[in-house]
Amino acid sequence: MMQLHDVRVVYPGGIEALARTRLNVERGEFLVLLGASGAGKSTLLRCLNGLVRPSEGAIGASELPQGRLTPRHLRAHRRHCGMVFQQHHLIGRQTVLANVLMGALAQHHPLRTLWPWSREDQLRALQVLDRVGLLEKALARADTLSGGQQQRVGIARALMQSPTLLLADEPVASLDPATAESVMGLLHHICKIDRLTAVISLHQVELARRFADRIVGLRGGQVVFDGPPAALTAER
Ligand code: ADP
Ligand code: ADP
Repeated sequence: MMQLHDVRVVYPGGIEALARTRLNVERGEFLVLLGASGAGKSTLLRCLNGLVRPSEGAIGASELPQGRLTPRHLRAHRRHCGMVFQQHHLIGRQTVLANVLMGALAQHHPLRTLWPWSREDQLRALQVLDRVGLLEKALARADTLSGGQQQRVGIARALMQSPTLLLADEPVASLDPATAESVMGLLHHICKIDRLTAVISLHQVELARRFADRIVGLRGGQVVFDGPPAALTAER
């Protein structure tokens, strides 16, 4: 579905965040990028959604033309990518529903007036909230929710986009272990039901083992492991 062909990313200042990385993301898989802080996970995710341009190498996606991509192609591609972040970037003083509706923005023309939201969007927002188990919180202020609930709202917001590819950057890093496991379980469940392709970065080996179809281990910007969880041995 997406490929990184020998992608190298060098940030201003000379830090090599990815060093000739090769990766083939298969349709429908739940792929976990595993690595310590600084390994290059965020950079790889940002290459997949087109926010970072490789210094060398190329990125391919099944719906994109080969070769040089125009900004218009990248915008179209990004519309298919639902993003979930570690800091969910919710607007605390707004309702949960309003925050979820923000996820529909990516689908609309930039010049469309935002208010009022169409009934269709509102109905869909309530449906995705129901899927993450937070329908009864729709009218609560986002900042009254627990960390785990806020991350569920972040997932709901990403689903509003009807993504074909779900990218999540350390979605459970700031949660306690039990909440982290339940949020990962929800993410996994939704991706499997909707047949979404997912690339999720984590630093917890146990969570990766538990949920991944495939684990890609990164260290110092290099792929040091690529295989099923069962093949990940203890010393890694
Ligand atoms: P994470 O481990 O979640 O990627 P970081 O602390 O590495 O978080 O980075 C947080 C933000 O700071 C990111 O947006 C990243 O692009 C930026 N960043 C990280 N390292 C540097 C750096 N050396 N110079 C400038 N920006 C950086
Ligand atoms: P991870 O997500 O695994 O923590 P990152 O992709 O955020 O890794 O970072 C990889 C390396 O690139 C780190 O050394 C980080 O400091 C550096 N880096 C990340 N973002 C930036 C940035 N915007 N500018 C400069 N260096 C960055």
